[in-house]
Amino acid sequence: MALLQISEPGQSAAPHQHKLAVGIDLGTTNSLIATVRSGISTVLQDEQGHALLPSVVRYLPNGDVVVGHEALAQQSTDPVNTIASVKRFMGRSLKDIADRAHIPYRFVEGDEGTTKHLLLQTRAGLKSPVEISAEILKTLKARAEKSLGGELVGAVITVPAYFDDAQRQATKDAARLADLNVLRLLNEPTAAAVAYGLDNASEGTYVIYDLGGGTFDISILKLTKGVFEVLATNGDSALGGDDFDHRIYCWVLDKIRGGSSSFTPLSEEDTRLLLTKARQAKEWLTNNHEAQIVCRLSNGVLVDVTLTAPQFIELTQHLVAKTLSPTRKAMRDANLPLEDINGVVLVGGATRMPHVRHAVEEYFKQEPLTNLDPDKVVALGAAIQANMLVGNRSDNDLLLLDVTPLSLGLETMGGLVEKIIPRNSTLPIARAQEFTTFKDGQTAMSIHVLQGERELVSDCRSLARFELRGIPPMVAGAARIRVTFTVDADGLLSVSAHETTSNVEANIVVKPSYGLSEEQILTMLQSSFGAAENDKQARVLAEAKVDAESLLTAISAALKQDGDLLSMKGKQKIIAKMDVLKDLLLEGNIHAGSSGAIREATEALNAATEDFAARRMDASVSRALAGKNLDSLKI
Ligand code: ADP
Ligand code: MG
Repeated sequence: MALLQISEPGQSAAPHQHKLAVGIDLGTTNSLIATVRSGISTVLQDEQGHALLPSVVRYLPNGDVVVGHEALAQQSTDPVNTIASVKRFMGRSLKDIADRAHIPYRFVEGDEGTTKHLLLQTRAGLKSPVEISAEILKTLKARAEKSLGGELVGAVITVPAYFDDAQRQATKDAARLADLNVLRLLNEPTAAAVAYGLDNASEGTYVIYDLGGGTFDISILKLTKGVFEVLATNGDSALGGDDFDHRIYCWVLDKIRGGSSSFTPLSEEDTRLLLTKARQAKEWLTNNHEAQIVCRLSNGVLVDVTLTAPQFIELTQHLVAKTLSPTRKAMRDANLPLEDINGVVLVGGATRMPHVRHAVEEYFKQEPLTNLDPDKVVALGAAIQANMLVGNRSDNDLLLLDVTPLSLGLETMGGLVEKIIPRNSTLPIARAQEFTTFKDGQTAMSIHVLQGERELVSDCRSLARFELRGIPPMVAGAARIRVTFTVDADGLLSVSAHETTSNVEANIVVKPSYGLSEEQILTMLQSSFGAAENDKQARVLAEAKVDAESLLTAISAALKQDGDLLSMKGKQKIIAKMDVLKDLLLEGNIHAGSSGAIREATEALNAATEDFAARRMDASVSRALAGKNLDSLKI
């Protein structure tokens, strides 16, 4: 482990030239954005004072997109168009997603051979996880620019330590779509350690215990002179705060059913409602002895039960215990005795629960660090890194370097993997290795890039394949093909190859197979510009329709009430104009460009009823005045 700390040259800002940089925790359940203000890392809130933005994106019928609390509230009524936990699908293909039965979304396999990523069918069309995540990032970016009053120079975005190349690339692509300049991707546990200032400690080994909404991650980081090395990671991708909610939910159901088997199953909406109540009760019990769960179900049943803290612990202790098994495995992989752990950091909203804290304390035989909010700590650390990267701090500040989480290598003869960059190499890194031809006169060579620790190609993850062509014909073994692997500071890989003996340059650079190409990003950007125009048109049309319909309703009511104020001819004139407008509003006659005609007909109808409106006004005034003398009307 040579190169340990770097300071970025030429990046220190002149005093008073504070560059706006942010840290973003793009979480499975909640996302946050933070920045360093007056030397202190702070999470930015939205206008309602919320720090956490639920990572939920909803595509509305009118073409709008909403993100956060508003989208979360509609999850049960519009599940297919309300996407939650999209992080689980980043950089994944259809076959990567096991157990799809419980996911309400409509998945579609992307184009094989281009970007293998999967797509989700929504009412706004096919959306990739990258595009959906970009909506979350756009919302956070807008929040930051509003509260900081300027354009952002860049962002540090956090990713789980175990994210592979494809998942990291997908995260970067999402940021590009959101028009964010990514300064660096940073591992979540590393960010948490930075927030606690552990990077200032000279040396040590730290455990980051992260229990979020739906995932549990444990990371063991070793800090040596400014570099965090991931000694081991483990976890459970199907264990989190949601499971605690589910236990309470089942307990409530048992209570209200009271042993009767005739209770009809709950509707989707009642299930959501009860789960929400369960989550609130769980969070309440973190600081209180008992929680009351009160709500009325759609079948009229009134739920009114009280859950005590000891009961809650009894219901969920097995879930807490379940986190300890990956923890033990990680400790075993890191090959460390418990005494060597210098600190334990709690991350994730679910670690607020006292029995989780106790279990961690008991296992590690030390009190965990909790003075920073566990659901904010990752964003806070990312903001500190971002601030350093844009040069807001002095030259003496040191940048933190990450390491490669998995080994990177090439396929060689016999389906074996030759590792080029071993795991835990400090980033950025470039390593080259020479290969040669297998047959006489061979002019092309197929290169297969793999990621993983195993020996066999079939046990590793395939990242990319490409062919090096134009090798001059030589006897077998004479050509010298130099293959170079480069991993940049974000953990992104590029591979190039060239033949050296003949001086024939044949260079190729590959991007990971799941990543988007420049053209694809461009097309997506262009289509989102195109969509913006469509969205605008749809909104104008919707508004015209609403205005037309409300005028029609008002006039129908007026005709019914005061129709006798009009002559037969006058009445017919108005009815004719109403018919014109009604006809334009018929389902089959409406198209994207109808708004102009609807507006015109609405105005014509309005004009035709001016006289009628005046008569009605007079009539209503005389009705009001009837039987009153003038004196009583004086103000
Ligand atoms: P993620 O990393 O998955 O985006 P978070 O770190 O935001 O998620 O954690 C979300 C989880 O934390 C949810 O299950 C939520 O109910 C839980 N949580 C938040 N606050 C509390 C609290 N006060 N007590 C118990 N659980 C909490
Ligand atoms: Mg998290």
